[in-house]
Amino acid sequence: MSSERETLEQALKETLAEIEQLNKKLEDKADYGIGKGGPTIYEWEFNLALRQSLEAKARSIRAALRKMQDGGYGICEVCGQEIDAERLAVLPHTTLCIKCAQARR
Ligand SMILES: [Zn+2]
Repeated sequence: MSSERETLEQALKETLAEIEQLNKKLEDKADYGIGKGGPTIYEWEFNLALRQSLEAKARSIRAALRKMQDGGYGICEVCGQEIDAERLAVLPHTTLCIKCAQARR
């Protein structure tokens, strides 16, 4: 359990560092003028979308860390079944079992 926590804390740290880097890139690109088109703005939008997905990831990692403290970690929040250990190894911050995750798509 403690090693899973370390994995999550490491993942959170990395995700936050990536967000930080993107924030810098996004600030720079703002100088190029939004709405003028060209490849720069597409890269800027790509980075913006990337940041949004990283922020969502950071939120779910934080939620998983909270669950570890509350004792609900590794339990699917939809059906209440234990999440497969192999799934948790690949996606340590997931809150859904494979069946519920697939049902959502
Ligand atoms: Zn489930």
